[in-house]
Amino acid sequence: MSLLVYVENTDGKFKKSAFEVVSYAKAIAALTNNTVTALSIGHVAAEELTKLQKYGAEKIISADSNQLSNFINRAYAHIIADVAKQQGAQVIILSNSFSGKGLAPRVATKLDAALADGAISLPEIQGDNWTLTKSAFSAKAFAKLSLQAPIKVISLNPNAFEVQENEVSAQLETYESQIPAADLGVLIKEVVRATDKVSLPEAEIVVSAGRGLKGPENWGMIEELADVLGAATACSKPVSDADWRPHSEHVGQTGIVVSPNLYIAIGISGAIQHLAGVSSSKTIVVINKDPEAPFFKVADYGIVGDAFEIVPQLITALKAYKG
Ligand code: FAD
Repeated sequence: MSLLVYVENTDGKFKKSAFEVVSYAKAIAALTNNTVTALSIGHVAAEELTKLQKYGAEKIISADSNQLSNFINRAYAHIIADVAKQQGAQVIILSNSFSGKGLAPRVATKLDAALADGAISLPEIQGDNWTLTKSAFSAKAFAKLSLQAPIKVISLNPNAFEVQENEVSAQLETYESQIPAADLGVLIKEVVRATDKVSLPEAEIVVSAGRGLKGPENWGMIEELADVLGAATACSKPVSDADWRPHSEHVGQTGIVVSPNLYIAIGISGAIQHLAGVSSSKTIVVINKDPEAPFFKVADYGIVGDAFEIVPQLITALKAYKG
């Protein structure tokens, strides 16, 4: 029995989540005495594919054709389920990314499997019964899921499991089977990228700003701070509602849930609906001129003061530190 991991790439380069899911699978393989097979879909060069062995993938299967260069949910789900059957995989692991959220239930249905979506823990294993923790209600609660079916699909939240090196030597294979025409029924004519920056749900550092910034013209310093830190930018809901920033940056209960190592909140009050999207961040830094702002209650570090004075000083200090 092997564990099958679907690894995502962008333009032929693996995302950080790819190394996370392989590391996570390797940790489960160690508990269950199994091997890890990684499946890559779309064009990824052999040199990039072999990077997966550093994290413990013993077999790497590449499904590479022009038809698969863009994400097509049905086609990708077909391949993952097909490879799982070919390999006799009983555990299929993918990232709970934008595409993973669509793929996981489809793959689980095709394999008649139990599904844990958005897992944040390793499983506790008692025979066929696996118990996993996931975050629920916009990360306000934790749910314990019991997976009892023989085949299990697990989607892992980005940043929930640290990448761990575990070098093995891998065997490379190609996926040759035909994909049913019905699963290729979507024709993608053009892909327009909203941003080339790191994707918000996967970012390790997020610089986020709210209505305290007064207007869109003041976001230059937020972007500069994010650039210096190699961070993604985010915002509160009223900011994206007012079109100061794109909706893809809106964090919170009704937006994106993030779990970075560092979340810097600038001029955001810390309403419960915003906190719902950031509470699983590992370290929270708040910059707000109001010492009573609710965000300070959940902050690891707080700076009381005017963002227009503090942020430029922070940028200067970080640039000096970086040399
Ligand atoms: P404000 O509440 O206006 O706060 C601005 C903050 O900036 C204040 O704390 C102020 O002290 C500070 N400030 C002002 N000037 C400066 C300065 N110069 N320097 C430093 N600090 C300064 N909100 C979300 O963000 N995400 C969601 O997903 C979300 N979903 C919602 C769902 C529902 C059903 C509802 C009812 C609301 C939702 N909201 C959500 C809105 C939420 O309740 C708050 O209204 C919103 O988060 C407030 O945004 P803000 O903190 O940017 O603005």
